[in-house]
Amino acid sequence: MNIHAYATRALMEVTSRPPAVFVKGEGSWLWDHDGRRYLDFVQGWAVNCLGHSPPAVADAISRQARELITPSPAYYNGTSIELAVRLTELSGLDQVFFTNSGAEANEGAIKLARKYGALHRDGAYEIITFAESFHGRTLATMSASGKKAFEPLFEPKVPGFPKARLNDMASVRRCVGPRTVAVMLEPIQGEAGVLPATDQFLRDLRSFTDEHGLLLILDEIQTGIGRTGKMFHFHHVGIRPDILTLGKGLGGGAPLAAVLATTAASCFAHGDQGGTFNGNALMCAAGLAVVGEVSPQGFLDGVTRKGELLAAALAELGNRHRLGEVRGRGLLLALALDKPVAPGIVAKAFEAGLLLNAPRPDALRFMPSLTVSEGEITQMIGIVDEVLSAINAGP
Ligand code: PLP
Repeated sequence: MNIHAYATRALMEVTSRPPAVFVKGEGSWLWDHDGRRYLDFVQGWAVNCLGHSPPAVADAISRQARELITPSPAYYNGTSIELAVRLTELSGLDQVFFTNSGAEANEGAIKLARKYGALHRDGAYEIITFAESFHGRTLATMSASGKKAFEPLFEPKVPGFPKARLNDMASVRRCVGPRTVAVMLEPIQGEAGVLPATDQFLRDLRSFTDEHGLLLILDEIQTGIGRTGKMFHFHHVGIRPDILTLGKGLGGGAPLAAVLATTAASCFAHGDQGGTFNGNALMCAAGLAVVGEVSPQGFLDGVTRKGELLAAALAELGNRHRLGEVRGRGLLLALALDKPVAPGIVAKAFEAGLLLNAPRPDALRFMPSLTVSEGEITQMIGIVDEVLSAINAGP
């Protein structure tokens, strides 16, 4: 039996996957078990912010593994303290709870808001979230998400997530009631097809939540850690959330996420939150290495520059093939298509040795490593150009 047959027999089938089995990664490149090389513009869904197996993260993990992996969350460990201090300095929020996935970070943010409501707002527990949003795959985060495909799944949903529409303050006002405690959103809805909240909408939400004594929760699991050219997306906007969630890029490929909160919002008491692996020294060492690489201004300026280059190249490609707009910020971009042909383009690109993502049938999403080179961007555009030409010339 070949390795692919083992994979389909031994792993639960939760999504359709191409038959390649990956065995090695370096920077923007992946190799499969047949030795074939692929240019990767998915990067674990915007996870590998420093590319595949970056030496800084690999070295930090191997060093830490020899010293201390985890002493249990019932005890402090130096690495998690160091990373928490670094994240509070960079974000301006005050306290951190580390988790193992983005969904778990959002679950923590939801619990924190509900606790805040119990303590300060007469038991208010509703969190206004947004149509098309994506916050994870636990029961509460699926309930918080506005993804249409989730609607029929795993009923009954966790209650308390009225849905507003992105960039529509009137829809937010309509959702507010005596039980409202918070508003939660992604600054750019990634899974929805890279749909940005406008900076003005984010500022209006900040003023509105302040006026009504509500918490503003930003899910920066996809947009945080340099992805949009600033350490956090909210730095573009000049606001600060009460609660912030991070994941994906934070571990540079290692499973690490976090909930951050201001002192006023950081209201967990003993017994409210925890988890065996949370804040383990091994993953926090990866996080420290990532933050050390990404946070210098020169690195972030490079992300902005390469993001502009990629956006311009996509716009040019879009014009030539009569496609739609380019959306997003930094190195989180989408090219809108005029027809629902994105899955076909992704499949053809894969055959040509390029990994791309189609978050919806009429959009391609580009989320390369933040260390991607200009040459790799040009190479990627060349492959997509050929694929589009072949599709246009097809029957
Ligand atoms: N929130 C956002 C904005 C995301 O993009 C994702 C993952 O795609 C999540 C939450 C869930 O993170 P994880 O898959 O690590 O649970």
